[in-house]
Amino acid sequence: MSRKSALILGVTGQDGSLLAKFLLEKGYTVIGQTRSVESPRLVNLDRLGVKQDIEIRSADLIDQKSVTQLIGSVGSDEIYNLSGQSSVGSSFVRPAETFKSHSLAVLNVLEAIRKSELHTKFFNAGSGECFGETKESGAVEESPFSPLNPYAVSKVTATMLIANYRKVYGLHGCTGFLFNHESCLRSEAFVTQKIVRGAARIAGGDLEKLRLGNLDIRRDWGRASEYVDAMWRILQQETPEDFIISTGRSSSLQEFVSLAFRRFGLNWQDHVVVDPSLFRASEIARNIGDPSKASKKLGWRAMSSLPDIVDHLIQG
Ligand code: NDP
Repeated sequence: MSRKSALILGVTGQDGSLLAKFLLEKGYTVIGQTRSVESPRLVNLDRLGVKQDIEIRSADLIDQKSVTQLIGSVGSDEIYNLSGQSSVGSSFVRPAETFKSHSLAVLNVLEAIRKSELHTKFFNAGSGECFGETKESGAVEESPFSPLNPYAVSKVTATMLIANYRKVYGLHGCTGFLFNHESCLRSEAFVTQKIVRGAARIAGGDLEKLRLGNLDIRRDWGRASEYVDAMWRILQQETPEDFIISTGRSSSLQEFVSLAFRRFGLNWQDHVVVDPSLFRASEIARNIGDPSKASKKLGWRAMSSLPDIVDHLIQG
């Protein structure tokens, strides 16, 4: 049997790099897309030791021609879209860029697949943010969308486009509603890394106080390396469907902070300043997913506890 091939859009990011490693270990041929033509940011792939094993292609996902050319020339069995402006906070500052990078990019991919002769399966990284505030029991796949920021609106749009192409054209497209998932590949623009690196600097005497926003928010944090396995499982299904990928467990940001500081022998209350200027314009108080469907149909469940995740981020 010939090797399966996968095209990963957004291969340089946290999930793209982890998925590339995961698929290479499964024997796939992996082609990765980046926007950058001349100096692609390959630091994550390098860190995972897979940079040499991937063919890197540059393409602009918000340009239809560029996407059609890429997908047509690669002709892969599976396409994973892990690209786009991924920060909720930045989506308030750069809403148009965020919207295009998720919605228009997905529309371009769908059109390219539809117009090709290919039977490519398509996975898109959706978001738990699509559901906005969730019940304590967690959002399920049928929960109503209630996006509260430009990032979530763009993810809802992409999800609905995929559902539409599935229904109208029979295209094999799936959305994974991913809840927060972390790894040491994340940048400090994300609060979990800001906390871990801040605590390390305070322990080392390089920083006095760490300024953070609302510590009461509750999130469903998982480990990114486990989430890329779920993405792959979603595309191995005969029938395309959407799945919630989450731990089903919520913790407050304060619990995260407390765990991280304790690992450095510090009491967070002595070092953290809550700064109201860092509160978001419209903050989701609680965002949890119920991963029962993924557990039942994909045989997938999140394994790492919050302390495991904090340890992983600290160890780097
Ligand atoms: P990253 O930010 O690490 O990677 C995203 C990649 O997208 C970047 O490396 C960049 O690659 C590319 N990109 C394309 N357009 C833009 C743009 N306008 N601004 C910035 N980057 C852009 O994201 P993750 O790996 O963490 O997430 C993967 C996908 O999963 C994203 O779509 C994200 O929204 C989604 N998601 C992630 C969650 C998480 O907790 N990590 C939770 C829920 C959803 P290059 O510069 O090489 O083109």
